[in-house]
Amino acid sequence: MEYEEFGEKVLAWFDKHGRRGLPWQRQKTPYHVWVSEIMLQQTQVGTVIPYFEKFIRRFPNVYSLADAADDEVMSYWAGLGYYARARNLHRCAIHIVDKYQGNLPDNLDDLQALPGIGRSTAGAILAQAFGKRGIILDGNVKRVLSRYAAIEGWPGQTAVARQLWKLAEQSTPNHRSDDYAQAIMDLGALICLRQRPACIHCPLCESCQARRQGLIEKIPGRKPKKRPPLKSIRMMILRSEEKILLEKRPPAGIWGGLWSLPEIDVMLSGKEVEELLASRYGVTVKKIEKVRSFNHTFSHFRLQVEPWLIDTLTMQSRVQEPGQQWYRFQELSKIGMPGPVGRLLMELESATEQN
Ligand code: SF4
Repeated sequence: MEYEEFGEKVLAWFDKHGRRGLPWQRQKTPYHVWVSEIMLQQTQVGTVIPYFEKFIRRFPNVYSLADAADDEVMSYWAGLGYYARARNLHRCAIHIVDKYQGNLPDNLDDLQALPGIGRSTAGAILAQAFGKRGIILDGNVKRVLSRYAAIEGWPGQTAVARQLWKLAEQSTPNHRSDDYAQAIMDLGALICLRQRPACIHCPLCESCQARRQGLIEKIPGRKPKKRPPLKSIRMMILRSEEKILLEKRPPAGIWGGLWSLPEIDVMLSGKEVEELLASRYGVTVKKIEKVRSFNHTFSHFRLQVEPWLIDTLTMQSRVQEPGQQWYRFQELSKIGMPGPVGRLLMELESATEQN
């Protein structure tokens, strides 16, 4: 199949079966497209929709986002994961207001220079927000193209990625750019599924090389696997006068910039914990109770969390350190917290209410 025909077939399929009426398609402003594209990185449409709607209600334009406090932006992202996206989105909004008078740039180079916008996201914004030809190569598109041309190997490898970008460039039509961008992503998300793709409904079925050569299960190749290491930490739920002590995590690293529970080494004894709590947080321990452990998996390691609920007395002379804050349970929904920590504290709150 010629690449011109590839684009036409995908567009014809989209006209009948593509997704329409998604919240960011209703009012396709550059701001809506940009926010949705960042949320959709590594995240499925169904998960993104409620987050997008809530986010846009609170931050309806780039000015309201740029003006917001970092903590508030993070609170609207809590639970969506990959928090660097939210920090970059916020930084980016400030930059757009300062440097571009609140208008998202409409060319590839300037878009790619913005925080959190890579080559594929820039292509998607160009096509969907500005109707310009933009080349997209997100996870869904990689799957369609690598199968269509039977490109074996993991798309994260440089040589494979290079072939896929070339193919994406060749197959993107010169017209209906915004529809094609949505069409090729929809085809990957709805038809060319990783497991059991619905090839009989695919417009590329006849000329798809992976299908013809029986390679669908093998393509795209998977990332070479290493078992992620296990890390154990102890989280301390320090409770004083119905308030919980939270610490702001450093901006880089896991859960960066979110408010979380203080952590200590699991090897410390109860006595050592007491001494540490007195010196670091200015509290004396009244009672320690171990809470059920839980695991959380990140892309590069597994975290085993052993929570301790510690009732404390706060020393009156203690000056609050920056980045530490005592919060009431009712206030927790207003701040950005890692999902597992939020769930742990909600369970604790409902257990407390029942007692
Ligand atoms: S024919 Fe099947 S494997 Fe090939 S692109 Fe279409 S859905 Fe994917």
